[in-house]
Amino acid sequence: MLERPDLMSQLVDNKMLIPTGVKGIYGFSGEFENVVAAVERLARAIGKQGTTETISFPPAMNRAQLEDSGYLHGFPHLVGTVHHFCGDDQDHLLLLDSVEEGADWTKDLRAGDLALTPAACYPVYGIVARRGRLPEGGVNILLSSYCFRREPSDDPGRLQMFRMLEYVRMGTPEEALSFRSLWIDRAREIAEMLLLPATMEVAADPFFGRPGKIMASSQREQALKFELLLRVSGEQPTACMSFNYHQAHFAERWGIACSDGSPAHTACVGFGLERMALALLREHGFDVAEWPGTVRALLWS
Ligand code: AMP
Ligand code: ZN
Repeated sequence: MLERPDLMSQLVDNKMLIPTGVKGIYGFSGEFENVVAAVERLARAIGKQGTTETISFPPAMNRAQLEDSGYLHGFPHLVGTVHHFCGDDQDHLLLLDSVEEGADWTKDLRAGDLALTPAACYPVYGIVARRGRLPEGGVNILLSSYCFRREPSDDPGRLQMFRMLEYVRMGTPEEALSFRSLWIDRAREIAEMLLLPATMEVAADPFFGRPGKIMASSQREQALKFELLLRVSGEQPTACMSFNYHQAHFAERWGIACSDGSPAHTACVGFGLERMALALLREHGFDVAEWPGTVRALLWS
């Protein structure tokens, strides 16, 4: 097992992570991507069932839909929007002058219709809502997306842009809850099969400000979020998967209804692909050829 304090420098020395000069944004080596791809393949294979619809999203989403989701109430500190130059020739010259002078050339850019996606499931609720009532038995959707969260850090496990694979269930409260408990069991098994020491804990999202503290404690009290914690970079284990029950929160915002017209309940399960890859590298070392045979077989057979 690789030891702290220098997982980051070991990753950089081994050219697995290539620094760009901005915290939390890295290039990833072919070797690192080999591990990420294997984790993704495993996550897709384990959740594969006939009725699951698969959608991959780009890293940006409809800004209006992010506003509709309520994300800005809880997480204004993490959000990222896409701004554009909207000026004429004169404005262009002024912009170039600003760059030349080292002044702020971005002040006249305007936010457009895009926001950076904060979690793979955010773009999907509006899409499902527009299709009308859910079919009998609800829906299962597998989503993947690059995600953005404004949380610059020197911790290789805390990125500003990272990949998330999510399974989303929409249906009755029972359907949403049994989906979540199925995945909690599966996640424990995945960690065991990958020989990664793991704990499962009730968790809370990092809501902003004083009202956020109340939101977080109510989320904990109701056990709406669980996390699978693995050893990544620090002494404290890091959340590598999360299991979220939103009750009717998203469905009510978007008007997603079950086949009988009752508000749908939703749940999602998120795999953080880079964190899972880092947990494997930390536990089994940088030389993938030397990893335990059972782990290699599971990831590359
Ligand atoms: P969450 O929506 O916060 O429960 O996140 C789902 C999963 O995404 C987490 O369990 C992590 O594996 C991953 N994740 C969240 N934030 C980050 C981050 N800043 N850097 C890398 N992975 C992250
Ligand atoms: Zn989600």
